[in-house]
Amino acid sequence: MTAPTRYRGQSVSEGIGLGEVYHGDPEPDGARGPMGFRRPVTGDEVRAAFAAVAADRAALAEQLRGRGQHEQASIVDIAALIAADPALIAPAVEAVRDGADGAAAIQQTGEAQAALLAALPDHDLAQRAGDVRQVAQAAVGYLYGTGVAPPPAAKFILIRREVDPADLIRLAEAGLAGAVSVGGGASSHAAIIARGLGLPMLAGADPSVLSSEEGHQAILDTREGELIVDPAEPELAAAQIASKANQAQGTTHSEVRTDDGQLVTLLCNVASAAETRLGLAGGAAGVGLLRTEIPFTQAMRWPQLTDHLAQLTPVLGLLGDRSAVVRLLDFSGDKVPPFQRSATEHGLTALLNNPKALRDQLTAILRAGRATRLSVLVPMVRSVEEVATVRTALAAAAKDAGQEPPKLGIMVEVASTASNAAAFAPAVDFFSIGTNDLTSEVLGLSRQDQGTRPALAADPRVLTLIQRVVEAAHDTNITVSVCGDAAADPLVLPLLLGLGIRTLSVGAARVPQVARQIAETDITAAKAKVAKVIGLCPSLSAQLSAERTTPPRPAPRSRDTARLAMSTSRTSSSRASGASSRSAEPTTPIAPATTPSLASMGAAMPASPTVASWSSTA
Ligand code: PEP
Ligand code: MG
Repeated sequence: MTAPTRYRGQSVSEGIGLGEVYHGDPEPDGARGPMGFRRPVTGDEVRAAFAAVAADRAALAEQLRGRGQHEQASIVDIAALIAADPALIAPAVEAVRDGADGAAAIQQTGEAQAALLAALPDHDLAQRAGDVRQVAQAAVGYLYGTGVAPPPAAKFILIRREVDPADLIRLAEAGLAGAVSVGGGASSHAAIIARGLGLPMLAGADPSVLSSEEGHQAILDTREGELIVDPAEPELAAAQIASKANQAQGTTHSEVRTDDGQLVTLLCNVASAAETRLGLAGGAAGVGLLRTEIPFTQAMRWPQLTDHLAQLTPVLGLLGDRSAVVRLLDFSGDKVPPFQRSATEHGLTALLNNPKALRDQLTAILRAGRATRLSVLVPMVRSVEEVATVRTALAAAAKDAGQEPPKLGIMVEVASTASNAAAFAPAVDFFSIGTNDLTSEVLGLSRQDQGTRPALAADPRVLTLIQRVVEAAHDTNITVSVCGDAAADPLVLPLLLGLGIRTLSVGAARVPQVARQIAETDITAAKAKVAKVIGLCPSLSAQLSAERTTPPRPAPRSRDTARLAMSTSRTSSSRASGASSRSAEPTTPIAPATTPSLASMGAAMPASPTVASWSSTA
């Protein structure tokens, strides 16, 4: 019997997962030319790749049947049928003939077919969406001679140098039981999606994990921060029991109130139908952040109307008339797709520089979200002009669609925008605070750093900026929510409630746990707690008060009056308008020298399991 091998990593999404090791390695460099582009392929090669996958799956089904594994054999039979389906093959062949990249053509066709299936009301048919994606992935593997093994028919743990958040979504309903990434940390998007899906994940893992043998049984235990390959029988049995106990914990809450009776709207963050189902089942009142860029992190061109519809329809179709806050593409940071990697502008700037890309997305959002309580959210906003550009495009798209324009809000996640929130408030219908980017900018940390984590939003420099945003929202009578991962952090959540936040959007799998903590929170105590933390930084509060450029607390204005006023008001962003790259450098006007030590802040914090780990890294 093989001895167990243990690999350590940082726990970035809690849980216990059991399954076979699966690497599903991407293509080696040989498949790419000197410029990093893949070699062009012909339509016949695309056909041959699908035929190879069909033959491979048929042979595997035979083997499984021979071993008496009839149930698994029938699942693999379906994959063989999918791989031979002209509805999947023909559009990919056509796209390649029109000059598209082979991998992009197959992936996008697979994605479109998968999305159609996922939208079907029949649960069993909807489940086949994952099979279509796997077949497409395998065809890409054959096309470039990479021999990417399809995921096992049984449960599996994905192990990659860099886990792609899109892979987590693609594989979520296909047996994925956990993920291990050598790169990244708690604030990378793969970790965020893993938490949303309720999948255990380790990041910053020992690189030797990449040599673990595919197909071997493994336990991913984030309590211990380790992956155990070939565990001993008693350890496996104990992990099976612990994993079942973990899964039984979720309860649903239709209405969420604090201990002293204040109503809190709890929404979920999603990028897929799987997360949306999970969030709604956990009691979320709707979607507070739909990250639309995640399914396109491997895109070879701007997503077009049909690409957006294929992604949005299965998600928004689940919501009925619930809230749906759909964010525009945020191709920045660790989410820049291949077609954007050599561009000088990323993120919102790139989108606004491509009016067709913006129009396609807005049209798709309006169409797919027609039945929902729809809002559009703009990421990484730095200037009021950016908001005005989107508002004009949204009005035009709504007019073409014969619909009323939905509410338009902004992510407040750039320090200068938070600091100048009062100048943005009249231009928008709501604020949504992105603590992930805000915290990393204010603290001068890269989001990929292993030390960056949601609990760091409890830093008084971050809280003081959030307080400023909340004040600006209240002054202008617009709603303000927090959708960054700090909203689900047990240390930060009461501080946000204490600051007056009453709408939170959290990773879908976190909804029941956050609802429980809200119900245990007393607002008076939370206010005292946050005053104490912010009070640790009195010179910072004074600096911000002195900087207030707008009169304090004017009478609330109607949205229309406010918008009219906005055309004359201009913000004084500390960054050049249109700058878009996420920098590890703190660009905030807040002087970091005034910050107390994390150790002293930790002492002012409530007893919480995160405090020790958080303050010990100071
Ligand atoms: C954030 O920055 O807090 C946020 C919610 O956006 P994202 O994590 O997608 O960058
Ligand atoms: Mg962000």
